[in-house]
Amino acid sequence: MKKHHYILEKIALPLLVSFLTPIATSIGSKITTGNWTLLFSKIPLSYKVVFFLLIIFWIIINIVQRKNKNVTSEGPLISFIKIPPWGWENIGNISYAGVKWVIIVPAQPLKTLSVHHNISPEDLEIKIPPRCPKCETELEQYKSFIGGFIWKCIACGFKIRSHNDFFKEAERAKKIAKRQLEIIINNSQNS
Ligand SMILES: [Zn+2]
Repeated sequence: MKKHHYILEKIALPLLVSFLTPIATSIGSKITTGNWTLLFSKIPLSYKVVFFLLIIFWIIINIVQRKNKNVTSEGPLISFIKIPPWGWENIGNISYAGVKWVIIVPAQPLKTLSVHHNISPEDLEIKIPPRCPKCETELEQYKSFIGGFIWKCIACGFKIRSHNDFFKEAERAKKIAKRQLEIIINNSQNS
């Protein structure tokens, strides 16, 4: 929803209703009693308070809903700006920040016996979104009301709080995965 639509539908409309209601009541008062304000005095104070609180409640609920909306689609998508000619290939997983990250590298045109023989740590990327550590379903990301993010699994209900978003944590997972791959390459060269 665009910002001006949001303001119109979620804030302006309730306010308009809250202003129109007394006007409508006033006109109703004039028609039925001949006095602009007589009907108002007949409305108990408790009704006025309840009506006012409902309007405030409505606005708060809408602000909270907006804060909790799924934000998976937002972000720079840094990892996928480069598109290798043969696509991406999964080479494994890494556990980081309480979730599972899929490590990808540019795919090879023809798979040889040793698929990973010429993988460079520089080619490595991390797939977004990360996956659920319990059932491997792709996670969804929501902005937390108290700050930070909540990552949720829609399949098994797994939930984890994160200070940073997918993109920031994927960059960190990438650093760890890169170092692990460097160690594997060094070990294989030394043996
Ligand atoms: Zn799950």
